[in-house]
Amino acid sequence: MARRKKLYEGKAKILYEGPEPGTIVQYFKDDATAFNAEKRDVIEGKGVLNNRLSEFFMTGLNTIGVPTHFMKRLNMREQLVRQVDIVPLEIIVRNYAAGTLAKRLGLEEGTALPRPIVEFCLKNDDLGDPLVAEEHIIAFNWASQQDLDDMVALALRVNDFLSGVMYGVGIRVADFKIEVGRVYDGDYQRLIIADEISPDSCRLWDIETGQKLDKDVFRRDLGSLTDAYTEVARRLGVLPNAAPHYTKPTLIN
Ligand code: 5GP
Repeated sequence: MARRKKLYEGKAKILYEGPEPGTIVQYFKDDATAFNAEKRDVIEGKGVLNNRLSEFFMTGLNTIGVPTHFMKRLNMREQLVRQVDIVPLEIIVRNYAAGTLAKRLGLEEGTALPRPIVEFCLKNDDLGDPLVAEEHIIAFNWASQQDLDDMVALALRVNDFLSGVMYGVGIRVADFKIEVGRVYDGDYQRLIIADEISPDSCRLWDIETGQKLDKDVFRRDLGSLTDAYTEVARRLGVLPNAAPHYTKPTLIN
């Protein structure tokens, strides 16, 4: 059998040339890294869980009209996605203080933010993905003003969708990171969600107990990462044989 052409290997995924022009096969590895790959491990089953969870979130987004690169899941570890020109920025949306925001501004982790905050970081491992301002983005031509407006709008729609879905299963979305890419339809270009949406790129806290169900379990040595991701998948009904777990909304007064 002819070997597939590898296009790119990142910390958690490998991209192969897809079966049709304009398609890519995205393979989810079991490798876990943190602190710009200073901490690393192989966590059996992580890739399978993230493949499923990213499929779940991206399919939901496509269904409500938020465009993503996701086309279909191919097998346990691979999905077919649309080829995009990745915008070299990480878009972070925060609802609660945590991670670098908590550190930078001296906020206590868990503090509710007055409104969702959208931040941009430059995708550059050598520099540790530094936070950048819109001024830098425009000046260095990483994206246009129109792209910026579109990225903020997309990020906030993803936030509403993710926060709502996760609230339904008793999980708070403290923050998350997305990436977007450009696609060209004839003369038009537009931005769509790319990469992955999984507990590797979100902070997910159990609403009742505050238990962390995301990559912070690995970053901070809080226990089994696969147990945490399996719990998220189980509550969402993503794993076969797992009934979804719905939390009754609490109405105040
Ligand atoms: P922080 O800036 O607090 O480290 O991260 C904010 C959010 O974005 C967290 O949910 C974190 O998991 C996600 N995030 C930030 N940078 C990266 C990255 O390089 N890779 C992944 N997978 N997630 C990231």
